[in-house]
Amino acid sequence: MLYVVATPIGNLKDITFRAVEVLSSVDLIACEDTRHTKVLLDHYAIKTPTTSFFQHNRFVKGEYILAFLKEGKDIALVSDAGMPGILDPGYNLINLAIKNNIAVTAIPGPCALVNALVLSGSPAHEFIFVGFLPNRSVARKNRLKGLSGSKYTVIFYESCHRILSALEDINEVYGPREITVVRELTKKFEEARRGSAQTIVEYFQSVKPRGEFVIVIPPA
Ligand code: SAM
Repeated sequence: MLYVVATPIGNLKDITFRAVEVLSSVDLIACEDTRHTKVLLDHYAIKTPTTSFFQHNRFVKGEYILAFLKEGKDIALVSDAGMPGILDPGYNLINLAIKNNIAVTAIPGPCALVNALVLSGSPAHEFIFVGFLPNRSVARKNRLKGLSGSKYTVIFYESCHRILSALEDINEVYGPREITVVRELTKKFEEARRGSAQTIVEYFQSVKPRGEFVIVIPPA
């Protein structure tokens, strides 16, 4: 069985009893970064061996992990944060397992986009998650323009390095529409900032943006 296990997105207490049980009992844990996951495993005194499975080794390592699964071993897949498969290489392993008729199950838990959407207060019955916006401003604006007429709430992930330029482009495309920018979900400095992109840009020009961000834009 391949267990896709959601892990905390900041606060180590955000993990289910079942996730701890599964991580303790499987034969191997495939981690995006073994050093990162070690912090979580040590916190819960989990002694299960780990192996890395990340973007650049996903094909070779995928076959290695598949061989274990075919031998009848149980493997847990975790990412650095949240639900594996949501914007990380987890998808490749899950897909490989399915194609090889390996049983797959997911242990639910934190996912940054769900927390952000709920905290934003935007309509949550229909939404689009578009991952990271393109790095370059022209491509980013084009993507934003394509989404600006959406009748769905739109959600992006963003890093502290690009949040200001992304918000400047959102301001250009969306104007005064009230958006929500959340950062550091579940952590000590969790913050949800609501207002036009312009007012949020002004705020982060005076207070250096730190941490990990999610941007939520409600429909017009
Ligand atoms: N698998 C993860 C999930 O379930 O949400 C997402 C992985 S993606 C590579 C990492 C991005 O998720 C970050 O750049 C940030 O935009 C968002 N993210 C993850 N943890 C977060 C947190 N605690 N607060 C805000 N955003 C977070």
